[in-house]
Amino acid sequence: MTVAAERIERLHDLARAAARDGEDDRARRYVRRARRIAERNRLSLPERFKRFSCDACDAYLVPGRNARVRTRSGHVVVACDCGELARHPY
Ligand SMILES: [Zn+2]
Repeated sequence: MTVAAERIERLHDLARAAARDGEDDRARRYVRRARRIAERNRLSLPERFKRFSCDACDAYLVPGRNARVRTRSGHVVVACDCGELARHPY
């Protein structure tokens, strides 16, 4: 794994921990930092990162806390508290 990919992994873990502690702003900063590193290094974000971060407001999503998850025919719909919906096939 490259250094950049490792940093993204670590930021993902930090964002998840912060979001679970209710530190949404801190989680958002980690999400943004990881996105920037990915961009700069032309990496795509890991699947779990994409699934648990909001494209609109950069929140790290914790189902039941700041996001609702519903299953629709063939995909999962994740709704962020900001109103953004993300669909993921499963
Ligand atoms: Zn959002």
